[in-house]
Amino acid sequence: MKITGKTKTYAVLGQPIQHTHSPPMHNAALRALEMDAVYLPYEVAPDQLMEVLHAMRAMGFGGVNLTIPHKEVAFAGITDLDESAQLVGAVNTVQFTEAGLKGFSTDGYGILQAIEEAFGISVKGRSVSVVGCGGAGRSMALVCAREGAASITLWNRTPARAEQVAAEIGDVPVQLVTDLEADAAVIRASELIIQATSVGMKPGDSSPLPADCFREGQKLIDTIYVLEETPIMQLARSAGAEAVNGLGMLLHQGAKSFEIWTGVPAPVEVMRESLRQTAYRKA
Ligand code: NAP
Repeated sequence: MKITGKTKTYAVLGQPIQHTHSPPMHNAALRALEMDAVYLPYEVAPDQLMEVLHAMRAMGFGGVNLTIPHKEVAFAGITDLDESAQLVGAVNTVQFTEAGLKGFSTDGYGILQAIEEAFGISVKGRSVSVVGCGGAGRSMALVCAREGAASITLWNRTPARAEQVAAEIGDVPVQLVTDLEADAAVIRASELIIQATSVGMKPGDSSPLPADCFREGQKLIDTIYVLEETPIMQLARSAGAEAVNGLGMLLHQGAKSFEIWTGVPAPVEVMRESLRQTAYRKA
């Protein structure tokens, strides 16, 4: 493409840049809509993030995505926060407005949309297990509670983190699991399992949950997207459960960011194909 002084720039900021799949996905969308725009990754030190964001607004950037550790820095530094960012205490999408910066989190939308797309269900009224209460698991648990899940079961390798998340969840009944073998039936009873640990990303990793946690009719979404089929997905499927990986979640959080910045519907299928090609090197 020909880049001119009028070309709009969108960006992802991180240190280091972890989500390298975002630029191809967004650039494919911009090209498909024939927009004179480009999406680029930049490495920025966290203590310079707010200065950089204000400078980007002054320079006419179209919008910005943030990766760890910038999500929390922006949450602390931006005053105009959408409800989506307030809920999870993090910002992954910055919109440049007349008044300044506005912060959003599109991760919650991403997982809800991915669940709906994969299984044809919403989390409202469902029993949900969230396995892993790091940054992603905490957000997922809070989003499920806000969406009206009937109950939420939490497990984390370090139990204190699960206890903290339980304390943040409001009216929804919460059950904490500490021993996966002894309490497998508790997780097996849930209709939906969200796998939010990083276990499964490295070659040789096995499933973070034992086989007894799965049953026919259950749904599992693994937030990991670097593999098309992760060990936990294989285990769940062999017990008759439906299972998907985290590509849909990554796709839909990106599509939502795109729509916040541009105000036009994202070309979701173009973005999905781009993600599949870059993640799994499909021709
Ligand atoms: P994080 O804050 O660093 O949390 C890591 C989580 O993994 C913690 O719950 C940690 O437990 C657990 N864990 C790590 N090693 C473990 C092990 N050997 N056994 C059991 N648990 C272990 O990371 P995060 O940002 O939440 O990311 C977690 C996962 O979500 C990653 O796989 C990431 O790819 C995925 N994710 C996907 C998307 C998407 O769009 N699809 C978006 C965000 C994140 P402890 O607390 O005990 O350390």
